[in-house]
Amino acid sequence: MSDARSLSQALLHTGDGQFAKRMKDHAAVPEALPVYMTSVFAFDDVPSVDAIYEHEAEGYIYSRMRHPNADAVAEILSAADGGEDALVFSSGMAAITLSILSLVQAGDHIVASPVLYGGVRDFLEKELRRLGVRVTFVDLLREDVEAALRPETKLIYTETLCNPLLEVPDLRRISSIAHAHGLPLLVDNTFATPVVAQPISLGADLVLYSATKYLGGHSDIVSGAAVGSRDLIERIRPKLVLYGAVSGAQDCWLLARSLRTLQLRVTRHSQNALRVARFLEEHPKVEKVYYPGLASSPDHARAQAQFRDGLYGGMLTVDLAGGERAATDFVAALESIKYVPSLAGTATTLSYPAKTSHRFYTPEALEKAGITMGQLRFSIGLEDPDEIIAEMARALDAL
Ligand code: PLP
Repeated sequence: MSDARSLSQALLHTGDGQFAKRMKDHAAVPEALPVYMTSVFAFDDVPSVDAIYEHEAEGYIYSRMRHPNADAVAEILSAADGGEDALVFSSGMAAITLSILSLVQAGDHIVASPVLYGGVRDFLEKELRRLGVRVTFVDLLREDVEAALRPETKLIYTETLCNPLLEVPDLRRISSIAHAHGLPLLVDNTFATPVVAQPISLGADLVLYSATKYLGGHSDIVSGAAVGSRDLIERIRPKLVLYGAVSGAQDCWLLARSLRTLQLRVTRHSQNALRVARFLEEHPKVEKVYYPGLASSPDHARAQAQFRDGLYGGMLTVDLAGGERAATDFVAALESIKYVPSLAGTATTLSYPAKTSHRFYTPEALEKAGITMGQLRFSIGLEDPDEIIAEMARALDAL
C-alpha cells in the first residue's frame, strides 16, 4: 500500500476485487469452494459486461441473476439426478411454484396427484385458479390419468413418495402417458432424494426439491431446487431471476457441503427406518405402519421396481391404536424424539399431520385422504436404531 494513498482510498479500494484477481494466478485453488458473499461483480470496462450479456464470455454480473455458490450446488445436483442442469431457489415452494408458473398460462390445465405437500396443493387449487389455470386432481395409483387429460393440459405433477401415507406412484407408467401426449412430468423427489430414487431415469422431465429437507439435512437452511433438461431449466431461469427467488451464498454453501454426505445420511436414514418399521409393525399398540420398504406394504413392489439399492427412505407413518388420546400421550411420553413439524434432520422427530399440515381439513376430508387422529409421521434420524426402537417401545408400553 502506497503512503501517498489517502486513508479513505486505502480503506475503500484495497483488497476484495484486486485480491480475487491475484488469486486467479495462484498455483493452488481452495480445496473447498469459498462462500462468495458478494451481491455484485466488478468490471474494468464496458465490453467485458457486454460479452457476458451476449454469452460471448463466462462471468457473473449480479447475484440475483446467478452466483457461484448456487451454480456449484446446481452442478452437484444435476450430476446426482442425471439432469443436464439445475437451479437453486430460496425454498422448495419457490422451486415448485416458479417451475410450474414457467410452464403454464391462463387457460391452461394441469393434472396432479391429490396427495401432495399442503403448500403445493394450496398453490394448485387456489393460486393457479386465481390466475386462470385449472387443475384436475387424479389419484395416480387408482384412477385413469389419461381420461383426465385435455387439449389444454400442460403438465402432470406428482411426488415420488406421497405425504403422509408414503404411497409410491408408478413413474415409468405415468411418464409414458405424459410423453405420449407431449407433456412433461414434474416430480417432487423431496422425500426420496437421488439416493433412493432418480425420477429422470424413470422418465420424469423435471425433478423438484425442498432442499430444506434431506438435501440440506441438518434443519439449518430453507432452500429448494429444480433439476432437468437444459431446455426446461432455461425456461424456468427467467422466473427465478424476475421473482428474485435466489438462494443466498451462505445457504448454497451449506447445501453443497451437506450434499457431500447425502448418500451416507440417506442410506442410514433408510436402514434405520426399515428397522423401526419392522419393530412397529409387530407392536400391539400400533394399528398400521405405512412404509414402502415393508414386504406387507401395498406399495412394496412398485417401490422395489423404482427405488435404488434396497433403500426406501427415512420417512414412516403409523396409526396408533387409541386415536388422538394415544397419539397425544405417546408424544408426551417420548424423551429425545421431538414433535417437529418438518423432517429430514439428523435426529429422529415426529409430526402429527391431523394437527399440523392437514389441520384445517374437515373430518370428511381427513377420512378421504386416509389421515386419522391417531396417525403420526416419523422422520427417522441417524441415531443407533436400537436406541430409537427402545425409546419408542418405552413410550408405547406406557400407553
Ligand atoms: N415438498 C415437500 C414434499 C415438502 O415436504 C415441503 C415442505 O415441507 C415442500 C415441498 C416445501 O418446501 P419448503 O418448505 O422448503 O418451501
